[in-house]
Amino acid sequence: MRKWVYFLEDNLELKGEEIKELLGGKGAGLYLLAKAGFRVPPFFIISPKASVYYLEKGKIPDGLEEEVEEGIGYLEKKTNKKFGSLENPLLLSVRSGSKFSMPGMMDTILNLGINDEICSVLAQRSGEEFAYHLYQRFLEIFSDVVLGIKREKFLSLNLEGKEAIAQYKKILRGKLPQDPFTNLFSAIVAVFKSWNNPRAIEYRRIYKIPDNLGTAVNIQAMVFGNLNDRSGTGVVFSRDPATGEKKIYGEFLLRAQGEDLVAGIRTPEPIDKLRDYLPNVYEELKREVGKIEREFRDMQDIEFTIENEVLYFLQTRSAKRSPQAKLKVVVDMLKDGLLAEEEAIMRMTEEDIISLLNPVFDPKFKYQPVTTGIPASPGCAVGEIVLSSEGAIKKAKEGVKVILVREFTKADEIAGMEKANGFLTTTGGKTSHAAVVARGMGKPCIVGANGIRIDEKRRMIYVQNPKEPKKVCKRREGEVISINGSTGEIVFAEVPLVEPEMTQELKDFLSLCDKFRKLGVWANADKPKEAARARDLGAEGIGLARTEHMFFHPDRIRYFQMMILSEDTRERKKFLAKLLPYQRKDFEGLFKAMAGLPVTIRTLDPPLHEFLPTSLNEVKKLAKKIGIKPDVIFKKIAELKEENPMMGFRGCRLGIAYPEITEMQARAIFLAACRLKKKGISVLPEIMIPLTITEEELKNQRAIIEKVAEEVFKKTKVRVEYKVGTMVETPRACLTIKTIAQYADFFSFGTNDLTQMVFGFSRDDYPRFLPYYLEKKILSSDPFITLDKNGLGRLIEMAVKEAREVRKDFKIGICGQHGGDPRSIEFCHQIGFTYVSCDTPLVPIARLAAAQARIKEEKGEVGIDLTR
Ligand code: PEP
Ligand code: MG
Repeated sequence: MRKWVYFLEDNLELKGEEIKELLGGKGAGLYLLAKAGFRVPPFFIISPKASVYYLEKGKIPDGLEEEVEEGIGYLEKKTNKKFGSLENPLLLSVRSGSKFSMPGMMDTILNLGINDEICSVLAQRSGEEFAYHLYQRFLEIFSDVVLGIKREKFLSLNLEGKEAIAQYKKILRGKLPQDPFTNLFSAIVAVFKSWNNPRAIEYRRIYKIPDNLGTAVNIQAMVFGNLNDRSGTGVVFSRDPATGEKKIYGEFLLRAQGEDLVAGIRTPEPIDKLRDYLPNVYEELKREVGKIEREFRDMQDIEFTIENEVLYFLQTRSAKRSPQAKLKVVVDMLKDGLLAEEEAIMRMTEEDIISLLNPVFDPKFKYQPVTTGIPASPGCAVGEIVLSSEGAIKKAKEGVKVILVREFTKADEIAGMEKANGFLTTTGGKTSHAAVVARGMGKPCIVGANGIRIDEKRRMIYVQNPKEPKKVCKRREGEVISINGSTGEIVFAEVPLVEPEMTQELKDFLSLCDKFRKLGVWANADKPKEAARARDLGAEGIGLARTEHMFFHPDRIRYFQMMILSEDTRERKKFLAKLLPYQRKDFEGLFKAMAGLPVTIRTLDPPLHEFLPTSLNEVKKLAKKIGIKPDVIFKKIAELKEENPMMGFRGCRLGIAYPEITEMQARAIFLAACRLKKKGISVLPEIMIPLTITEEELKNQRAIIEKVAEEVFKKTKVRVEYKVGTMVETPRACLTIKTIAQYADFFSFGTNDLTQMVFGFSRDDYPRFLPYYLEKKILSSDPFITLDKNGLGRLIEMAVKEAREVRKDFKIGICGQHGGDPRSIEFCHQIGFTYVSCDTPLVPIARLAAAQARIKEEKGEVGIDLTR
């Protein structure tokens, strides 16, 4: 027989993901808390598999009813109370909780078990205020979740206590069953169904949570934070969720239930204030929170209730936190010996690193903040003000960057929040909905900016002028503001953003990654400034400098175009000679920025027509500039036109047909290298030939390069070590790599072109049809982003193996877009590449991914499986 309900006494030995799968995240937290001896009110848990069954079959599974009744008996025994009895009634909380935390997305019902009669009895025994408060909350929540009557309808009456209940009943008109068991099962079904409410579905889409997990139902004896002034309820983080600082952070309300905290009707107090009211409880809380964190070995987000000065824990889970906080916690826990180095590395993700390097306000720019709020999620954002989540979606569709400005945000605004670049709320603290979501998404957020007033009708925001307190500053929806989620500064202007320096913490963390990784990490860069940035970010070389980018400069393009339009070799050489000094300077810049590290320079690759203008106007302009007739240019353009240029006259085919191009580029490289070497700068040029298909091409180009090298060495009386290698970016190059290897000092896989040719997908046209392939699950991911292990991967694996048969230590890298994709990097590690080369901003991600690949391999979590 299947078991649906679980008790503490089941003595489950499961941990981590497994227990979360069986009991849901919240259930697992409760279970493990209680098992470790923390004070938790008695509970039992309906496994998520029951909700999956219900949602599939439309009925509760056989046996569940009996198991729940058994569970009630269990709670009655533990609490000495009775469900539905008038003497000593047991009240319950019924909470949802899926494997992955989805805060506020599904339903929770408190005080279940109360009815008219029980309320009267409780009023006599424990005071009217207490009893009516319980009943009122129950009616509000139960009506909303189970009966489908919006909670706002009740709240808008703005009533409390007995009067509230009388009015609520009028709205309910006898719809509320009085039988606690009937209500319990309605509540369970409502929680099951809440898995599929629209906001939960949207949340799963954003956070890529599978739709088939279902939710657990956690049924627990109530403890009452609203009993008296020595009772209360709160939420506490074991560290600051925005910065990661090691001190408890949170808020609480005395004489209140959990729902009061969420509902935002009363303003909670910061957790430190608890010390003034209930010093012993505060000290116990601090101590216990520290212990819980050590037990779970991660920063926790904990719910607690105090009943008559007795502290109970209702939930603990790994806290959602900003990437900055995440990094600090990892580094601190590593220092404290709570985490091993490998674990620390595995905890950070690609997205965290991207957020940590998100742009910041340009420190050189002078600005005056118009007001400040509570910095709730670090980072800076600039964008147009939008006052609604719908507005954010609409503007984002138009490609506009927006800041969502609201009094507070709610769970159903998640879709708009996903589109906004940052959030600003005028109320709330660091644990408010906006703050939690922002940190989860790694977006900047300021909350509690109470200096700002929003006028939704006029679509305006107002703030007192900081310089002249009698005046107000205002901004209309659609105007630009800037927010700094690290400092809380709000600026009514567009502050320029710049790439941030890496913090010492991030540098230390990435150095730790370097200790573990086997793969080298190089960068694709073709400008000195970019190369310097790549080096700062940890690049150990340039794996691809695309020289064609250097010709698009306004001073040079003219000579390049004249070179293309040349009638014969002599003329071509003349214009190439004009380009040579520019190229030499480019290479000097790159070599200088990368002194002591290898710089891979690729000879010209794209089809020549890409450099010529297309419109009549542009052709006329060019004709005038270079003093020839537009007709001549048009004729040349027509001559150069190709049906399929990406498979046409490009790559080393250019250097074969026009050896003078390779010659000029090689000369520029060696002149630059020799000049710098003379100055004592260490240069390591590696010249790379594109799009090779046979060793004969490489032999041909290599001969030109070697000849030029000797000429330059002789002339400058300096010799530099250099390498000549080739890209492997055609299937034929993979298949004949053994022979090509005889003329190559290194190989670099050009997986952009390789993907194009192996799939037969045009690099430029595939976005038109790929969405269909992804939607119909014909392909599981975009093969131009994540390397196709099972197809292209096999070809690469074979080629690497055969190249290494020629020379065991052959230097082999990758410089296609995949070199910056963590999943592809894992593959590169597995098949033993020497290095990956990626776009400059991705260098830190590649360092992390390479370390994670190694750790996974050592744990036996990855192996090459190319059998499909
Ligand atoms: C490649 O094809 O993977 C490559 C790096 O070259 P490009 O993208 O410049 O064609
Ligand atoms: Mg290519």
